[in-house]
Amino acid sequence: MQELIERIRKDGKIKPGNVLKVDSFLNHQIDPKLAYAMAQEIKRLYADETVNKVLTIEASGIGLAVLTGYLFECPVVFAKKSKSSNVSDDLYTAKVHSYTHGTDHTVIVSKSYLNPEDRVLIVDDFLANGAALEGLRSIVEQSGALVVGAAIAVEKAFQPGGARLRAEGMRIESLAKIASMSDDSIVFCEE
Ligand code: 5GP
Repeated sequence: MQELIERIRKDGKIKPGNVLKVDSFLNHQIDPKLAYAMAQEIKRLYADETVNKVLTIEASGIGLAVLTGYLFECPVVFAKKSKSSNVSDDLYTAKVHSYTHGTDHTVIVSKSYLNPEDRVLIVDDFLANGAALEGLRSIVEQSGALVVGAAIAVEKAFQPGGARLRAEGMRIESLAKIASMSDDSIVFCEE
């Protein structure tokens, strides 16, 4: 998506550890016009699918997920990062390793909000090693619902998550795909 690529070029900041900061328009301050255009692109990419639930993970996926759910006219659920590892009968849970914090946490979704008849589109801001997507896929599978696919704002294609999950059969659509990143430059795929 050209508009997102141009914004990353203009305002993205490259940090150590292959971390791209997009705090000025997506992850801390949000540009609603750009975020809405991104949601429209997700709707266009998944126009051939029935989606009746959008699932994301707190916090940075929520803004884009809400706009996406608005366009699909369906509820949006976000997995919460649990402080305790207490597992209750009312919750679906998955362990996720955080790329940016380097720690493991348990993510939870109430069993009330995912049902076997749901057709779920997973939305997230970044795809790197695939841990967040895997955790969300596990939660959907525990509920008996179907993962229609995933929509990702920025995929770092030089990291292994996207290739592995696609090889496992998951449909993943990314709005901007980074082929490589160095201290002072970003190369996007299709360039
Ligand atoms: P994964 O689980 O695929 O390794 O990483 C995806 C998760 O880590 C996303 O939910 C995102 O919050 C975070 N993440 C991974 N790479 C980056 C990055 O380069 N920049 C930012 N801002 N977040 C990232």
